[in-house]
Amino acid sequence: MNNLERLIKLENDQILSEADLRILLDTFTEKDLSYAMKRARKVRERVFGNKVYIRGLIELTSYCVCDCLYCGIRRENKNAERYRLSKDDVLSCCRTGYELGFRTFVIQGGEDPYYTDEVMTEIVSSIRRAYPDCAITLSLGERSKESYKKLYEAGADRYLLRHETADEEHYGRLHPKGEHLRVRMKHLWDLKEIGYQVGTGFMVGSPFQNSSTLVKDLLFLKELNPEMVGIGPFVPHHESVFKDFEHGSLDLTLMLLSIIRLMMPDALIPSTTSLGTIHPRGREFGMEAGANVVMPNLSPTDVRKKYLLYDNKAFTGCEAAESLSLLEKSMDSIGFQVVVHRGDSSRAMIRNK
Ligand code: SAM
Repeated sequence: MNNLERLIKLENDQILSEADLRILLDTFTEKDLSYAMKRARKVRERVFGNKVYIRGLIELTSYCVCDCLYCGIRRENKNAERYRLSKDDVLSCCRTGYELGFRTFVIQGGEDPYYTDEVMTEIVSSIRRAYPDCAITLSLGERSKESYKKLYEAGADRYLLRHETADEEHYGRLHPKGEHLRVRMKHLWDLKEIGYQVGTGFMVGSPFQNSSTLVKDLLFLKELNPEMVGIGPFVPHHESVFKDFEHGSLDLTLMLLSIIRLMMPDALIPSTTSLGTIHPRGREFGMEAGANVVMPNLSPTDVRKKYLLYDNKAFTGCEAAESLSLLEKSMDSIGFQVVVHRGDSSRAMIRNK
């Protein structure tokens, strides 16, 4: 079988053997990539038409107790600028976002003990009351199962928690001693069991990644079958342990986006900020490789530069929620239409709030 045949088989069966996935990742050519992107676009079009779902990203806190070796806001980065948003700050971001046309708010932050269950449920239930027609997505790292339940009951709909890598040894090289992949995975299964629409994913080109760890990532995605999959290139941060590593490859990210779309036709897949950071047209390329979601930044403008996960992180132009018209234009130029919509997974049971 050649790579074109592998891609056809992947589209037909929505899965490939471990060996074929590995060969595809190791040997794909420009021609294979453009074929994969073309087929991924077709599949995305069949399921979602030309609609692009937008999510307003609110970066809640740059404090973090974790020390993930790749991340700019890791605990040990003493030079990181730290901030926290209050409930009123968050509600004010939601108000701006709602007026702009956002119907999903993604609240993301470091693992910050300040946001106890009491504080977080108050924030979530206030958004729920004020915006009953909007989806609330949380991305706050690992919390207890009890905490996930309370937040779900308070009105959160979705939870994003990237698994980062599905290879135990690789996981150990990206995180401090004592953190384990099996724990991360258990969190994802718990979130699913509670009823969240779940998102997971990984960085492309993280240090020590190779095609065999990537194949494990793809097979884990297939097994977990999350509603959302977020992947984007690793980008170094000058204060992180991995400051001297290269950023992840654009082509490999696009190939993986296409493969994931072919494997999981109904998944919600963002074209990420990190893709827009490594290439001026990265976000558009991501859409052309099968993505169907974008997440402009809705955080207060004065904190955006403080949530610096990696160097040169984009937060202006199309990345900024207030410049939605720029994003609409850019999406329109490649045949997409930004819609005012919650953009739930077709698999999700929408709860009656
Ligand atoms: N604390 C939450 C968590 O761990 O899920 C959410 C915030 S965390 C900073 C969000 C994501 O940023 C991580 O899952 C990671 O994949 C991504 N990230 C962190 N550092 C990065 C880097 N240097 N390059 C690209 N992505 C990065």
